[in-house]
Amino acid sequence: MVKLVAGNWKMHGLSAEAAALAGALKAGAVGLAPGRVSLLVCPPFTVLATVGAVLRDSPIALGAQDCHPAPSGAHTGDISAPMLRDLGARFVILGHSERRTGHGESDALVRSKVAAAIASGLTPIVCVGENLAQREAGREEAVVGGQVAASLSDDFAAAQGTIAYEPVWAIGTGRVPAARQIVAMHALIRAGLVARFGDAGRGVLILYGGSVKPDNAASILALAEVGGALIGGASLAAADFLAIAGAA
Ligand code: PEP
Repeated sequence: MVKLVAGNWKMHGLSAEAAALAGALKAGAVGLAPGRVSLLVCPPFTVLATVGAVLRDSPIALGAQDCHPAPSGAHTGDISAPMLRDLGARFVILGHSERRTGHGESDALVRSKVAAAIASGLTPIVCVGENLAQREAGREEAVVGGQVAASLSDDFAAAQGTIAYEPVWAIGTGRVPAARQIVAMHALIRAGLVARFGDAGRGVLILYGGSVKPDNAASILALAEVGGALIGGASLAAADFLAIAGAA
């Protein structure tokens, strides 16, 4: 299966820097082995159009970092899935831990956003992951299993949605779970998908995210059921992001 390497730029990048980063990625992507890896960048809303224009005619896909569940309406400050499609986005990250904690997003809200994204033709990347206290209490399987069960719409697998397993304690910390911990959580997620969606659940990509860097990417991407990676910090440096993609 082709691995997906996705960059989450978070709240970084004014127009000039975003265009320069996209340009460097477009140039560097030419050197990647075709058929092994596909690339995606998810810049802030404000530079989606700028980055999309730079990436036109490149193999790098464009995504966003959130959307509202409604297609339009009186929702000051929000952005809908059809608006993202209109800008050329093909993917949207949903339920990132920074939104679950910083914006109080519940599984139910994430699920409604997933349904909206799919209805608009976007591929949702749904983030799940336990925090440190939950891991230390041995509750990671219950937490992540619960998030997977409650955050996905019924058409998720048929629409080829993607999941990102991102232990919160690994995001931006330089701490990476042991290989056996990643394998165990990906297996748990796969089992949940298959139990709910049957065979379609086998085709859902499960990304790993949390402190993936050029020096650990090859070993993480080679693990069972790791279908790619969601990259935060290292996606802001073209050389690092391309090195991670090259390790796939
Ligand atoms: C993320 O926030 O999705 C992420 C994986 O961040 P980092 O790579 O910086 O840990």
